[in-house]
Amino acid sequence: MSREIFVQVAVDRPLDRLFEYRCPEGKEAFEGQRVRLTFGRSTLIGVVLGSGKVPELDPARIRTLEAILDPEPILTPPQLELLRFVSRYYQHPIGEVVLNALPPALRKGNPLPEPRRPEILWQTDQPEGTARIGARQRAVLDALALVAVPLTLQALNDLTGLGLRGAELERLQSRGWIRAIPWTPVVPPTPAGPAVGLTPEQQAAITQIRGGSGQRAVFLLDGVTGSGKTEVYLEAAAHALGQNRQVLILVPEIALTPQLVQRVSRRFPGQVAALHSGLAEGERLRVWEQARRGHHRLLLGTRSAVFAPLPQLGLIIVDEEHDPAYKQQDGLRYHARDLAILRGHIESLPVVLGSATPTLETLVRARDGRYQHLHLSKRPDGSLPPPVACIDTRVHHTDEGLTIPLLDAMRRTLEQGRQCFVLLNRRGFARALACDHCGWVADCPHCDARLTVHAAAHRAVCHLCGHSQPLAGHCPECAQELTHQGIGTQRLERALARHFPGTPLLRLDRDSVRRRGELERCLETIRSMGSGIVVGTQMLAKGHDYPRVGLVGIIDVDQGLFSVDLRAAEQTLQLVLQAAGRAGRAGEPGEVWVQTGHPEHPLMRALRAGDYPTMIEPLLHEREAAGMPPFGFMALVRVDAPTPEASLHHAENLALDLRRHARDVSVLGPAPAPRHRVNQRYREQILLLSPLRANLHKALHDARMHWEAHPPPRNLRVAIDVDPITLG
Ligand code: ADP
Ligand code: ZN
Ligand code: ZN
Repeated sequence: MSREIFVQVAVDRPLDRLFEYRCPEGKEAFEGQRVRLTFGRSTLIGVVLGSGKVPELDPARIRTLEAILDPEPILTPPQLELLRFVSRYYQHPIGEVVLNALPPALRKGNPLPEPRRPEILWQTDQPEGTARIGARQRAVLDALALVAVPLTLQALNDLTGLGLRGAELERLQSRGWIRAIPWTPVVPPTPAGPAVGLTPEQQAAITQIRGGSGQRAVFLLDGVTGSGKTEVYLEAAAHALGQNRQVLILVPEIALTPQLVQRVSRRFPGQVAALHSGLAEGERLRVWEQARRGHHRLLLGTRSAVFAPLPQLGLIIVDEEHDPAYKQQDGLRYHARDLAILRGHIESLPVVLGSATPTLETLVRARDGRYQHLHLSKRPDGSLPPPVACIDTRVHHTDEGLTIPLLDAMRRTLEQGRQCFVLLNRRGFARALACDHCGWVADCPHCDARLTVHAAAHRAVCHLCGHSQPLAGHCPECAQELTHQGIGTQRLERALARHFPGTPLLRLDRDSVRRRGELERCLETIRSMGSGIVVGTQMLAKGHDYPRVGLVGIIDVDQGLFSVDLRAAEQTLQLVLQAAGRAGRAGEPGEVWVQTGHPEHPLMRALRAGDYPTMIEPLLHEREAAGMPPFGFMALVRVDAPTPEASLHHAENLALDLRRHARDVSVLGPAPAPRHRVNQRYREQILLLSPLRANLHKALHDARMHWEAHPPPRNLRVAIDVDPITLG
């Protein structure tokens, strides 16, 4: 009889432990391989995380794996180290963490796709001036001549943007203008250098980052909007690729940055792939697998791409590191920027964090010298982003959100043939449906929230749970006519159409770009439309490089000034500055107007004061005084249950447990979450704060072990949020 081999397996169940199984006879499973197994009465997919140990259970009671699914480990040792850390750090069950890191197709047990069949590379020896040739064909020959290395079809398309098909190239081949050669697993050398002459600041930043290659190093690339950070990323990436390493670039949202994707693809034709949740399942799996096999040299992805397998990874870049989209807000609540830094540490490679408005966390670490602080203090043409001016809405009456000074400034901008961006962070038509007579307001039946008016759809919608109902015309209490209170982007759009008849007008928010491809089309229209107005939510502040924006108007920042939420002030500053950064590129100055009823508020004064470091100084003092991040460490324990009593009762028990286990940790609460009721569930939360991270983690860990041993009722949910970015 052959030797029995036992393995420890992680499965997708909320239990923070591994499970022992026996390998099928004559087979052996290794760490990082997927297996299929019987768990209770279900069949599950698991990942082997340990082998070779003497089993703890009686071998007679250990079940045998149904199958070993992968011919080799699909997660590398550094990846597994990262995932183990994530499980400990975010206090999340290891099986859920590991399975979460795989593309959905692999989680289901689908096989790895076959290796890509070898592709053909195209090359030209054709001298210039080939007689009688179409413009498209000319472009192909020029591109091939320019890079002077053989290219795949995809690389040619990246480079030319022509959307060529194989048949077209075959026609060129049949006329003897290009040649096909078999694909070889050689990394194509990086074609062409930077498209522009670099500024001394850019050059210095690149030199520093290159100097960090092969080492644990974190760089903060702190550069005003439009200062050429992307150019620095590209040069740093070129260096890593040239050393035969892979590069990971994280972005907050891929659909909002088509130009970044384009710039990267053009610079490194055929080497770039994008990985994000917008991909179809099969495509996502293929990209993941090609990255794992080292075919994709540069991976551009959103938050979850931080877990992507990149065996030769040499550099990680996190663009717009301040963006809250990097934090997952449900399930495993990880922060992709923080994990990028950790991954760099595990794999000994440099990580670059780029932003015009870095988070306080990142800035403090740069000031402490834990990160190397690289500055791009101005734009390549020497200009700076425009200063921010306020319009006092106590003095200037607003008509559907718009003041006369803003309308006048817009008119001037439009007369110059430029664009105006008008930003309001509330989608829908109106904030609320209300009765002016008796004070009745339409609330969501499931949440502590007002229903938002969506006039075009004739519905009142809850933005928290998605509940929607027909738009009532009359008050259910007193039968008077209801009014639409407050302004949303749709109402603003209508008001602007009234003020600027005949001017091109576009709206950009989640409602206007619901379908696939609409966002890309909308962004393209903005770039190509010439003079006009774009109304939108914070989506407008992201995106890149709109060439003709002369004015940015921000309709209402006041909610951000008085919110009690942890990062509201910081995020308001970031939003305004990011939006401001869209105005006035290409040598023409722009204007930024913020409408506020509180121009004397410290934040508004800070905004007018000029630069970001000065603005955030008071915020840093506040945080320090309160022992809040980045000066203390924070976690939230969120409890929700179908009744308010159950929620409070269990939250109180959890708080007691936490207090029992806490050393030098303040345990605050429970207190009702800012939105107590969402989707018919009642939410309480407990806040933990400690000057020492280790103490905070120990308290959480010990309390959690206690809860696992004494599980709460099934209809109760407990979620731990380590380093929360919002209390909401
Ligand atoms: P950021 O990423 O900091 O917003 P970008 O890299 O997108 O800035 O650069 C802003 C604009 O300036 C782009 O159009 C870019 O092509 C241009 N640019 C960047 N670096 C230089 C340079 N050294 N000289 C001239 N133009 C540059
Ligand atoms: Zn009424
Ligand atoms: Zn609701």
